[in-house]
Amino acid sequence: AEKIKMTTPLVEMDGDEMTRILWKMIKDELLIPYIDLKTEYYDLGLEHRNETDDRVTVESAEATKKYGVAVKCATITPNAARMTEYNLKEMWKSPNGTIRAILDGTVFRAPIVVKGIEPCVRNWKKPITLARHAYGDVYKNTEIKVPGPGKAELVFTAEDGTETRELIHQFTGSGIIQGIHNTDKSITSFARACFSYALATKQDLWFATKDTISKKYDHDFKDIFQEVYEKEFEAQFKDAGITYFYTLIDDAVARVMKAEGGFIWACKNYDGDVMSDMVSSAFGSLAMMTSVLVSPAGVYEYEAAHGTVQRHYYKHLKGEETSTNSVATIFAWTGALRKRGELDGLDDLIAFADRLEKATLKTIEDGKMTKDLALITSLENVTVLNSENFIKEIRKTLEAL
Ligand code: NAD
Repeated sequence: AEKIKMTTPLVEMDGDEMTRILWKMIKDELLIPYIDLKTEYYDLGLEHRNETDDRVTVESAEATKKYGVAVKCATITPNAARMTEYNLKEMWKSPNGTIRAILDGTVFRAPIVVKGIEPCVRNWKKPITLARHAYGDVYKNTEIKVPGPGKAELVFTAEDGTETRELIHQFTGSGIIQGIHNTDKSITSFARACFSYALATKQDLWFATKDTISKKYDHDFKDIFQEVYEKEFEAQFKDAGITYFYTLIDDAVARVMKAEGGFIWACKNYDGDVMSDMVSSAFGSLAMMTSVLVSPAGVYEYEAAHGTVQRHYYKHLKGEETSTNSVATIFAWTGALRKRGELDGLDDLIAFADRLEKATLKTIEDGKMTKDLALITSLENVTVLNSENFIKEIRKTLEAL
């Protein structure tokens, strides 16, 4: 049969370890046989990042800005052990951090829901997509360990020299203080990204802070969201039949537990850090979680939420069999291909992305899965497949659809 044509290349960011192995298998078995795959390839594998002094990461982000859609494989964020293992010139920064800084994006994480892998929370029927504000607050803090009695003050000095002071605490003994900040610019970008993504995916948007206690800091978040909503999105939300819902963070947590899912939950930086792990573990497995970075300019970068599955890679290197779950990486590809199809008006590309997702889920629902899922499934008569055979099985299902 004719292969499906593409008009604009996807920015392809290759990565590391076991996910790099899966990357090639997915392309060879599930994409190249069906699509005239056009990509602009960037090798973000650690060796090549080191060879290029990490320029390749910056170049891949710039290409993403240019073309609009990227798909990324998991990559190693170097630490001390990796410095030795890869003989690195420098401890290169996290590629995700670099890309996010260049695209100024917000990350949306959503679980892949499949029959047979039931969430721990019984009433969660549809995915809960979590959006985490990735700038400031406690992640860019300044802290002092107070040794003994004294006065702690918050001081802001304007450019003209005017000072504003607030007493934090009159210490009578030792203690701790912390200074945190955020910017209206970053909060506004975050709000826009959340409202745009809600519209693009036709889901309600929830947002929560602790504005009753934090009457200036958290209240600023609440006000900016409300203003962006009213000025730029309210009419479009009404047309799309979706809603924006603001509440207190404790109320949001209580409601999320009782909800059905099917909405986007926007969180401040710390709330998002904590809640994304709660949501992903409750939905079953990190290997079933997708992630997309959306920039305020409407640029999309798709990836799996998990890492490079290092332990499986070492087994693979020793020639041992692995059973690594490729679902989130497959969905990163289908997400990117579908978005490319939407932007370029390629209906058959969109239909292929839908079909590949359906084939992937059907394979699992038919009882054929990797070990991580076999351990948590409610299905009986399960066949545990190795990394390669799982992908081949998906191909068989795809051919039969
Ligand atoms: P990891 O996600 O690779 O693994 C965490 C745990 O989940 C492991 O027990 C692993 O066996 C299991 N797991 C994860 N994905 C799986 C899959 N697809 N199939 C089966 N089991 C799976 O995270 P880690 O071990 O903390 O990190 C390994 C490397 O990945 C590190 O070098 C880290 O820097 C990198 N990392 C990259 C990204 C990214 O590129 N987005 C994200 C997280 C970690």
